Amino acid sequence: MAERVRVVIVGARFGGLTALHWLARKARLGECAVTVVDPQAVSVFRPSLIVALQGEPGRLRPLRVPVADVCRRLGARWIQDFAVRIDAAARQVHLAAHPPLSYDLCLWATGVDPCWQFIDGLDPSRGGLCELPLARATAERLAAWRGGRWVFATGPLVADPAQQPSLRAALDAAVVEAACCADAGLRRRGRREATEIWFLTPAAVAGEWLGARSQALLARELARRDIRVLTGVDVRRVEAGRLVLADRTLKVDAMTWVPPYRGSRLARWSRLDDGWGWVPTDAVGRHVEWPRLYAIGDIRRDGLPKSAHSAMRHARIAVTHALASVRGTTAPPPAMPAVLHVLDLGDGRGLFSAQNTLYGGRLDRAAIGRWAAWAKSAFTWAYLRGRGWLPVMP
Ligand SMILES: Cc1cc2nc3c(=O)[nH]c(=O)nc-3n(C[C@H](O)[C@H](O)[C@H](O)COP(=O)(O)OP(=O)(O)OC[C@H]3O[C@@H](n4cnc5c(N)ncnc54)[C@H](O)[C@@H]3O)c2cc1C
Repeated sequence: MAERVRVVIVGARFGGLTALHWLARKARLGECAVTVVDPQAVSVFRPSLIVALQGEPGRLRPLRVPVADVCRRLGARWIQDFAVRIDAAARQVHLAAHPPLSYDLCLWATGVDPCWQFIDGLDPSRGGLCELPLARATAERLAAWRGGRWVFATGPLVADPAQQPSLRAALDAAVVEAACCADAGLRRRGRREATEIWFLTPAAVAGEWLGARSQALLARELARRDIRVLTGVDVRRVEAGRLVLADRTLKVDAMTWVPPYRGSRLARWSRLDDGWGWVPTDAVGRHVEWPRLYAIGDIRRDGLPKSAHSAMRHARIAVTHALASVRGTTAPPPAMPAVLHVLDLGDGRGLFSAQNTLYGGRLDRAAIGRWAAWAKSAFTWAYLRGRGWLPVMP
């Protein structure tokens, strides 16, 4: 019997879990022995953490996919541990508390390292949204809110300025969505009059990675709801009760941050990054120097925007090409990507956006409607119920 292909998947959220599902479908029976490494026992569905801004902490509870269950069901081994180094020359993943794992294929999806300390005085206690405990604290803050100025801010994306497409903000779409949900939630409780909501981004426009049509719709929506927008923001320092920007100081009563994104320590320590912490790959995700190593999702240098939709698409393409490479066959080159996104506007409506202008294409569609919010809920429900698999995959 032929030797099984040893596949190691590092990271088990959108990129890693999707890769595991595709492997289970595309590999022949017994072709691969798959090991998944992640320190987290549950994969948190991050796009829905913004429900925290609807002031209902209980709604955060179901947003988790149990990693061990998914691995068991798909015939993979799960090791709950941190990868501390990837040795691409020896084809080994070194773990913090287990012996190294040798691989024939490594699918690497450990995401970005949120870098709070990149801004002086910024730390998770200021307020955040990216992980469950932060979202929970934000929900509690909202429940106890009496009024004042609430600032929603995204840090910068720290990356090679030569990288195309060029984005300035870590994740402004999620933050502007959070601001809209807070607006709607406060209106429902009769606290909006007593609250100023601000949205701050280092990007030139709100909704940086949406198309021009979506940006125009979003600008109108933010103005109509009296959400104040500051673009091109350079935050120099965060202090209790105020934000020191390059051109002014802003008094604040509450903040919700997506922190600066600054590549990956694991990539730096492994010397597999582009000098900025991001993993350089070709269009199918293969590392530019190491053909048995594929990067997926947020960690990729060209993984722009940093979105779950991109991570899921990368996973499908990487698995297809990785299997073709070990079988000695060829797979078709990927088509031009498109950014598909729905912003939950918090009031029962959503902003649907589909575009590829970011990559030089001409597609630019946008619309606001209840159906868009419904589509986002349906996606979430299907993802959680399918344990990371959807009836229609990106
Ligand atoms: C509040 C919020 C809202 C969002 N909304 C949307 C949205 O509406 N639509 C959308 O498309 N995207 C959205 N995103 C972005 C989306 O969540 C990310 O782009 C996506 O999670 C990236 O997936 P990933 O698998 O590349 O990385 P991650 O999701 O970051 O997963 C990385 C995994 O690797 C593991 N890991 C990390 N280090 C190690 C290590 N050393 N060893 C082993 N494992 C490790 C982690 O535990 C984690 O499970 C949102 C993000 C946030 C924060």
